[in-house]
Amino acid sequence: MQKSFRCYQVKKNDQQDITSCVESVSSDSLPSGSVTIRVVYSSINYKDALAATGHPGVVRKFPHVPGIDAAGIVEQSDSDQFAVGQPVVVTSYELGVDRWGGWSEFICVQPEWIVPLPEELMLKESMILGTAGLTAAMCVSSILQHEISVDSGNVLVTGASGGVGSFAISLLNRLGYQVTAVSGKASMHDRLIELGAKQVIDRGAIDIGSSKPLLKTQWPAAIDTVGGSLLSHLIRSIEHQGCVATCGNAGGTELDLTVFPFILRGVTLDGIDSSWYPIAKRTALWQKLATDWKLPDLESRAKMITLDQIQETVASLLEGSHQERTIIQIG
Ligand code: NDP
Repeated sequence: MQKSFRCYQVKKNDQQDITSCVESVSSDSLPSGSVTIRVVYSSINYKDALAATGHPGVVRKFPHVPGIDAAGIVEQSDSDQFAVGQPVVVTSYELGVDRWGGWSEFICVQPEWIVPLPEELMLKESMILGTAGLTAAMCVSSILQHEISVDSGNVLVTGASGGVGSFAISLLNRLGYQVTAVSGKASMHDRLIELGAKQVIDRGAIDIGSSKPLLKTQWPAAIDTVGGSLLSHLIRSIEHQGCVATCGNAGGTELDLTVFPFILRGVTLDGIDSSWYPIAKRTALWQKLATDWKLPDLESRAKMITLDQIQETVASLLEGSHQERTIIQIG
């Protein structure tokens, strides 16, 4: 392995000021682990944007290298599961949180976190999907597991223009579901229809003010990336035996609810956590994303930047104006 390489580091000085920049570091700085990967692509997720600002909910020690997603080639391996030269994908677990992340030319991780790149997928495509695509696939699996049939009515997807939301729309559409997208961006409505939504509702037009414990039923199921009052509202609007797969908190963390949607309508609130999703299920879902669930237009869904162009994307993610996916070409 080369003596030094580039990575994006977030630092805190003695005055507690947080700064970040791309630096060349010695290969000795890389934490130990049994598999070293030369990263070819990474991506930017909402969690990475928080990490890039040193957010205490994500970053626990400095200096920190963000990047919860990485795809690349095995450079060194002490594991008999992975051979030098093999293309692989790592998403979440502690990558880019407690562990040196993917915004770096090299990462070093344990084999238990690594998924062999499915033959049908390119490294670049795997990062266009990244944690956002995997999380969307987990949400869609939840809808399938809860036996919501394709003819039961429109499935609602919130945060529709974001990474998870936009993939959720296309995956549901691919599987034959009718989708209603909720978006705060009027400029994205046509694009959301192009991605597979049958209908788009302006987020601002939803009256989330009602305090009624149950609202008129409207949706057999929903995938929610927003959380907060929008999630509270839609749980109260889900049909009998329906379900909501919830993964995000872009719009808030608190829920204002009674037990009634659950005990009078049998609604399921299914929590989605991609970070610790077991490796066997994760590998199977990546295989689906590469084959039966493969989206035809992956290349057109992401903007590509370099390590030196990260700041602007971080700002747009934090202010909620980011659209679809941004990937980082590293190697
Ligand atoms: P993005 O930033 O790409 O998308 C989030 C979308 O939510 C935005 O595009 C916007 O969509 C909407 N939004 C943003 N701010 C607000 C707001 N203040 N109020 C209401 N809606 C808002 O993020 P991702 O798609 O990558 O992630 C979505 C959420 O899911 C995040 O909270 C993220 O942390 C979480 N997540 C969780 C995972 C898990 O394992 N549980 C894994 C991956 C992500 P629009 O304008 O179209 O409404």
